[in-house]
Parts: sequence; C-alpha cells; structure tokens
Amino acid sequence: MLRLYDTATRRVAEVVPAGGGVLRLYVCGPTVYGPPHLGHGRFTLVYDVLRRYLEWSGIRVRHVSNVTDIDDKIITRANDEGRPWQDITEESEALWWAAMDRMGVAMPNEAPHATRYVPQMVELIGELVSRGAAYDVEDGVYLSVAEVPGYGLLAQQSLDSLRSGARVDVVAAKRSPMDFVLWKKAKPGEPSWPSPWGPGRPGWHTECVVMSLALLGEGFELHGGGSDLKFPHHENERAQAVALGRAFAAHWMHNGMVEVGGEKMSKSIGNVTDLATTLDSVDPRAYRLLVLQSHYRAPIEVSTAQLSAASQGLDRLDSLARRMDEAAAATSEAVESEPASDLRAAFSERMDDDLDAPRAMALVFDAVRSANAMLAGSDVAGGLALGRQALSCASATGLLTASGRAVSERAALLAQQRDRARDARDWTTADRLRDELQAIGYRVEDTPAGTRIYR
Ligand SMILES: [Zn+2]
Repeated sequence: MLRLYDTATRRVAEVVPAGGGVLRLYVCGPTVYGPPHLGHGRFTLVYDVLRRYLEWSGIRVRHVSNVTDIDDKIITRANDEGRPWQDITEESEALWWAAMDRMGVAMPNEAPHATRYVPQMVELIGELVSRGAAYDVEDGVYLSVAEVPGYGLLAQQSLDSLRSGARVDVVAAKRSPMDFVLWKKAKPGEPSWPSPWGPGRPGWHTECVVMSLALLGEGFELHGGGSDLKFPHHENERAQAVALGRAFAAHWMHNGMVEVGGEKMSKSIGNVTDLATTLDSVDPRAYRLLVLQSHYRAPIEVSTAQLSAASQGLDRLDSLARRMDEAAAATSEAVESEPASDLRAAFSERMDDDLDAPRAMALVFDAVRSANAMLAGSDVAGGLALGRQALSCASATGLLTASGRAVSERAALLAQQRDRARDARDWTTADRLRDELQAIGYRVEDTPAGTRIYR
C-alpha cells in the first residue's frame, strides 16, 4: 500500500482508496496565459508517475486536474496585446496539451474549465456569506479567515504569525490582511459573470474547491500540486471547505521546485525555461527520467549535462528492449525462466515508501545492466526473465510509453473504421466512432491524412 508524506500532518501515511476502491486525485492544473515551463513539466510528470504506478499496481485512479481559464494574468495579457481573452486561453491550452502529449503524460480523467463552473462557484460563495464566513465589500467578496478553525495548517504557521508577516494591502477593502478574495467585482471592460454581488469573476482559490468537490466528492483521497501552492492557494481552498463544514482532501502531496543554474526558476530572475524548448533538445523521456531520479519533494536542477546523462540511461533501457526482441525472435519456443529475485516486488516496496523513485529506479537500472550482460553472454533465458521485469517496472513509470502515442489495437481499429465512414461521407457513423474513442480515453483529431488519435 502506498504511503506518502502528508503536508497537513507532516507524517508519512497510507493513502487508502475509499469504499469503491478508486483513489480520487485532484491536481491543480495550469492557468492558461502562456506556454508551459519546466516547472509545469515537472509537476505533471510527478503526478503522471504516481498515477501510472498506482494503475500498474492494480489500483484504479480517478484523476481530475483543472484548467484555470479566467484569471488576472489572462486579462492583463489580452489587454496588453489587444486580443480577446479567449484567444489567449485557447492558444495557451493547445500549447499545454501538445507539451503533455510529447511528454507522454496521460490525460486526466477530467480537465474541468473554471469558466464552466461559475454558477456553482457563485452558489458556494453565497453559502459562505450566509454562514457569516464571508463578507461583501466594494471591490469583492472575501473570506474571513478568523472564522476558519485551524487556518495555517498547510502553511505550517499560526494565523497570528501569518498576519504579522503579511504585506499590508492598501488597495483592497478587506477587513484583515489574511482574508482572501472569493469574488472579484468586474472593472469596466473586464470579462464578467452575474452574481448577487454584481458582475465579476471567481477568485482562483474558489475555482479549485468547487471543481474538486463537484467531480470527486467530499473527502477525496489525495490533493496534489507544487510546493509553491501550499500557501496561500491550498490553504485557502481548504479554508472554504472547512468554513462550510465539508470534508476536503484527506491527504496533501506537494512536489519540489525546479532550479536552473542553482536558483529557483522565477520571472524576476529571468531564468524561466520554456518546456517545449527543452523537449525539442532531447528525447522527452530524458526529462521524465531526470524527474524520476530525484525525490519528488526535493528541488531538481535541470541542465543540459543532466539531461544528456539521463539520455544515456534511456539508451541502456532501449537497447535492452531491442536485445530482448532479437533474443525472443531467435528463440523458436517460449523461453521461460524464473528470475532469482523478484525485481517488481522490490521496486514496489521502494515506490510505496513515499514514492521513492530514485531508489526504485536505481534497482531497475541495475537490472537493466545485468539483463543486457546476460543477453550479450550465454544466459539468454535468465536475461529475458530479468529484462521482462525491468521493462515492466520501467513501464510503471511511463518511461516505455512516453512517446504518448501508444494506442490499443481496439482504438486503432475504431480509427480505421472512422476513416472509412468519413470516406463514405457517413457522418453519423463517424461521429459515433469518435465518441467511442473519446469514451475509452483518446483525443481525436482530424488531419488530412485521416483520424489521428492519442492519449
Ligand atoms: Zn488549485
């Protein structure tokens, strides 16, 4: 059973799927106002590894990750460039999924858009106001954090110490510096939705609490995100649920940041590295392996030297896969041999220990080296048996399907049938086949060459 460090309790604890055996996972997704950077790449890879590992272990996962498609940064960029804000979000979201596809990151089971949940957000804010936990002032509706028991749990600071460190915000009309905005009243020309407090838009913290509870239900097992989201974002998501008396995430997981040149990546330092540029320069799996080789809670340094070292690791893995194909083809009958040790069990033991991928991958790469040597020597049966285990473990981390284009036979067949239906101008059948493909988890794209499907 998987044990993970819980930011709320500061202890490593089991993450137990509820009654139905499905582990419900919510991960804060992107605010779509520009291209993804290396930090986005890391967090999506961390949670993709977690999800793939759980599924490989036989645990079903329901993975929800939102798209924040209304936000101050989106509006600012739209105004700066004199373009409709929807242009910015559509363009940025397309860049996001394209980068995820290149990294072989599986699509979340659901990727809700904030703008589609505004009525539910208005409803939640209304409930907070009627309970006396939120108040309406000239520029918006705010949550009064003094009304929230245990505020500061994820920040790991008391409300008093948070208050004394707070910057005094002279513009906002809020009552206390730690209070945060639930509803921002629209200024002229800004996009807005109707509400009892006048036209405006939801605050970011309200988006996530509404979408996670709407799609996963109360008391979902695991909430994740980058460690920069602990406070205030996650603290404030949780605060709204607490103020409403609703059970929120049972367990909180946070991944470490990306460093470039020994410093945290940040706009002010100017070292923010575009994800697509990195993916252009190496096999995209090299970034996945680099992420796997550091503990998810630790910061990682990303440099050309480290990416090329990771590429060499991939070469050893790929040459094992090739050697195994050749050895299997050269052997007329199935070669079965029990390996001396159970690599999969040892790998699982390390992954279950707070997702200790660096130690788990060290085992896998030791096995890759041994299996390569056995296949090159005379112990083909032993090499195949160990190699199979090594490749199975590698697939649990997404390293073998990271092209993102692994397609099942059934899906390939449906896509062929759809092309035939389109050739015959049978749009009803073509649409039904597209729906079927989407229902089994594929994204469907029409290209001049025919139907293109990918996960
Ligand atoms: Zn969030």
